[in-house]
Amino acid sequence: MVWLGPWLACCLLLLPVRSFSAEVPAGGEAELDAAVLCAAYPEAVLGLEYTPDQKPVLVLANGQRLVYATARDKTAEAALENPDVKDMLEQVYPLGEAGLSPAPGFDPGRRRVTSFFKALYGQDKEAVQAGGVAVPFLGRRLLFHGAHGAAAALNRVGERLAPLVRAHRAWRPTLFPMAGTFCWRPIAGTTRLSLHSFAVAVDFNGNLPYWRTFRGGARIAAERRAFPAEVVAAFEAEGFIWGGKWAAFDLMHFEYRPELILKSRVLAGLTPCPPLPVLGPEEGRPGPAATP
Ligand SMILES: [Zn+2]
Repeated sequence: MVWLGPWLACCLLLLPVRSFSAEVPAGGEAELDAAVLCAAYPEAVLGLEYTPDQKPVLVLANGQRLVYATARDKTAEAALENPDVKDMLEQVYPLGEAGLSPAPGFDPGRRRVTSFFKALYGQDKEAVQAGGVAVPFLGRRLLFHGAHGAAAALNRVGERLAPLVRAHRAWRPTLFPMAGTFCWRPIAGTTRLSLHSFAVAVDFNGNLPYWRTFRGGARIAAERRAFPAEVVAAFEAEGFIWGGKWAAFDLMHFEYRPELILKSRVLAGLTPCPPLPVLGPEEGRPGPAATP
């Protein structure tokens, strides 16, 4: 099956001047979330099905079924520690120059369903490594995962950034030396795997502010603003999010999350909502279609 790269690229790149009404599917947030996941990872996500009691379940190509929402009224800590699909997409990533003053606990992209990323990129270090390819990037070669368009997207980011970095020599101490991409490890202070484990995250200079070690207090606001907005824009245009927009900030960090960028664009009316494969009998669906 061919990855829908051209379709997604069309949505991400060619349509910013058009405006679409931000229509959420009739099935609400579950169907919107499933639609952007299907569009971002068409080889891995088959669609949404409903249990007999009308609970949405995300169906993966490997046979896995992820219950969309596992519990109501989770604490923010529980949503981060043990997220479900709903939690994973709940906080809408702010595009462009927005998002530089996040409220406490607003970390769009930090809630990750580990089993989902294992299904996308590999169950263990060896499996991920086998899927890695070397991507030319600003004079280096970075190991990045070849699946789901990740390596191709990083390559395009590099093409966007090369002339900018040449023109802005003052950025170099901010960006370099780069800290790397692939490393199978938990996030510091947790048992949750970082997206570096799946070779779909890239770090610039390791001295950039990180929430666990930063001692500058309120200076973080200026640090966020000082990071080149053009670099952030180049990554976002290719389906990456920036850790500099998290309350638990990580300014060196970008990760490939095309589903989050796509959801943001749909809700902003910049891109039409992609189609959603609803699996199973129609009468399993909630809403008017389920009414006899
Ligand atoms: Zn990182």
